[in-house]
Amino acid sequence: MPKSLPGKELLPPSPLLRLTDVVQSGSDWIVRADGPDWGTCPKCSGRSISRHSHYIRTLTDLPALGATVSLKIRVGRWRCFTPECAVRFFIDRLPGVAEFRGRRTCRANEVAQLIGYALGGRPGERLSRRIGLPVSNDTVLRWLKKCARPAVAGAPVVGVDEGAKCKGRTYGTIVVDLEHHTVIDLLDQHSSESVERWLSTHPEIHTICRDRNGRYGKAARKGAPAAKQVADRFHLVQNLRETIERELTLHRAYLRVKLSGHRMPEDPPPSPAIALPVSRPVTARERRCRLPDAWPLKRRSLGRCAKTIKICSISSRLCRPAG
Ligand SMILES: [Zn+2]
Repeated sequence: MPKSLPGKELLPPSPLLRLTDVVQSGSDWIVRADGPDWGTCPKCSGRSISRHSHYIRTLTDLPALGATVSLKIRVGRWRCFTPECAVRFFIDRLPGVAEFRGRRTCRANEVAQLIGYALGGRPGERLSRRIGLPVSNDTVLRWLKKCARPAVAGAPVVGVDEGAKCKGRTYGTIVVDLEHHTVIDLLDQHSSESVERWLSTHPEIHTICRDRNGRYGKAARKGAPAAKQVADRFHLVQNLRETIERELTLHRAYLRVKLSGHRMPEDPPPSPAIALPVSRPVTARERRCRLPDAWPLKRRSLGRCAKTIKICSISSRLCRPAG
């Protein structure tokens, strides 16, 4: 790991900050900076250059080379002299750098939120600590809830489907506003009755998108009989994909030959007609004349047996003398 870093790039891009020092503390980096030389009152927006005091505000910023970066910014307490303003003293808010009373920079919060969206609470916590941006799982979930868009009232087009509360064990129902792509409700059960009750309290719904599960179809017919039911795209695409896979599996041998650059195997040529020898049936008299002397006692029994099981050709072959 290098012993020094170009500190200017480590600061958030803001004209309010002025870099003073970059030092290494253990495996972490500490970036020191000064705040602005003036303050803007949050109440009256008046600018003040009368500094009362200052203090060091510590913020966690984006990691550098896998190490945690801490900003230590020297910010001031200022006096407001506006006569109509009720505020006498205020501190620097650092807009664009960090939220008021926040412990991380805005850009660090943004990265942590993206990790939380992708992984959730505890996996997001493990990954963020691994890359040098320590965030607790509670913080990740709190940010996700804070950034969640409010539910839209009066959604006319909704989608209903099962939602796993504990995968493989307990399921509820998730209701989505398909026009705004927003979850508008989570039902504790996935029974037909619970969905029917929910639909009956939302008469504004005119289109219900669902899978081909009869449970939701029954709920839609009873809870919103005037609404139009359509099949959702996911299950249609899933059925199409399964059908294509099934058909391609049947022609797998031809696909492999085609992909390897060779010609497709041709159908096997039809088998040539084989001219079977047609022999004149041997009469009983001729058979008797052909039999050797050692067979006189057996010929009648063999012939009678062959006639019984109706395989005359075998009988003829057996009765035919070897010479
Ligand atoms: Zn003021």
